[in-house]
Amino acid sequence: MADKKDFYEVLGVQKSASADELKKAYRQMAKKYHPDLHPNDKEAEQKFKEINEAYEVLSDADKRAKYDQFGHAGIDPNYGAGAGYGGGYGGGYGNVDLGDIFGDVFGNFFGGGSTRRRSSAVPGADVDVSLTLTFEEAVFGCKKQVTVTRKENCTECNGTGAAKGTTAETCPTCRGTGRVRTVSQTMFGAMQSERTCTTCYGTGKIIKTPCKNCNGTGQERKQRTISVNIPAGIAHGQVVTLSGQGCAGIKGGPAGDLNISISVKAHPIFERKNFDLFCEIPVTFAQATLGCEIEVPLPDGTKTTQKISDGTQSGTVLTLKGKGVPYLNAKGSGNLYVKVAVEVPKHLTSRQKELLRKFESIENKRAYEKRESFADKVKKFLNGN
Ligand SMILES: [Zn+2]
Ligand SMILES: [Zn+2]
Repeated sequence: MADKKDFYEVLGVQKSASADELKKAYRQMAKKYHPDLHPNDKEAEQKFKEINEAYEVLSDADKRAKYDQFGHAGIDPNYGAGAGYGGGYGGGYGNVDLGDIFGDVFGNFFGGGSTRRRSSAVPGADVDVSLTLTFEEAVFGCKKQVTVTRKENCTECNGTGAAKGTTAETCPTCRGTGRVRTVSQTMFGAMQSERTCTTCYGTGKIIKTPCKNCNGTGQERKQRTISVNIPAGIAHGQVVTLSGQGCAGIKGGPAGDLNISISVKAHPIFERKNFDLFCEIPVTFAQATLGCEIEVPLPDGTKTTQKISDGTQSGTVLTLKGKGVPYLNAKGSGNLYVKVAVEVPKHLTSRQKELLRKFESIENKRAYEKRESFADKVKKFLNGN
């Protein structure tokens, strides 16, 4: 404090520099040492502070005159009295609108940064994981474990970022608010605006001794195994969200969510569409002709018996109401649709072939309705009526 640098020296200008020259010098220096371009560089950060402080004083004609006459003591009544940095400035170097200074070049860059740091509290990031379920697990629900890597509050410093035994101090520039008011003189008069405090980057706190475990970030990566209840009826491609189970928020911000993307393995028998299930059951030509009872497997691993009436055609669909997939988070279930597929026999023995020929030789026009009706249509078509 006692050997504070000369403001003209800091900006690299002559004592006789014009307001324009000062602004130009400041613009160049501030760009060069902007903290966003030098993350974790304490020297650049200090330099940036000095540049801002110097320009804040020298750009104000009144303050500049006092500084020229009395030096640092002229603009800081606490200078030399051992007061903290910026104590008597009523906002320290904070009266410079960097957004304005950086203009077009840094417009978006700075704008984005300033929005991001609008509040010191930053919400934690979401964590995305994927989870593969068996067909049955998805249909009936299950309890699963997922392993995630997420950022949590540092256990050494409890998320403060300050080394054990020390505490983060309230930022003197913004008095802990993370924001500073800016009053700039324009041709339209005094304009007031607010922006992120550049001393603490909007956190409101200054950490003198950073926690070694987290390098002062207040967070550390942890691997966790989390239990999740998968509801019955979940489908492939859906996402189960556990709110607040993502990364911890920063400085009191809310935690992010854990998003679990669900994949479901195919089933050898059942095909699923929404909450309905479909399967195809082959029957013999004799079973379909004479009628029979078939066993229908159910998704829960049990089975039920279904009657096939005599003369059932291939492709006939039986509906088993409520034997499909339970509705997600609601009562009831979809249906199970069973398609009867008549299998034409192959590789018959000569005895079987002989019996079939005998069977076919017995005239019975009523046995094949479709065949007879088709034959009639063909006959009429070829005769031209
Ligand atoms: Zn820590
Ligand atoms: Zn601050």
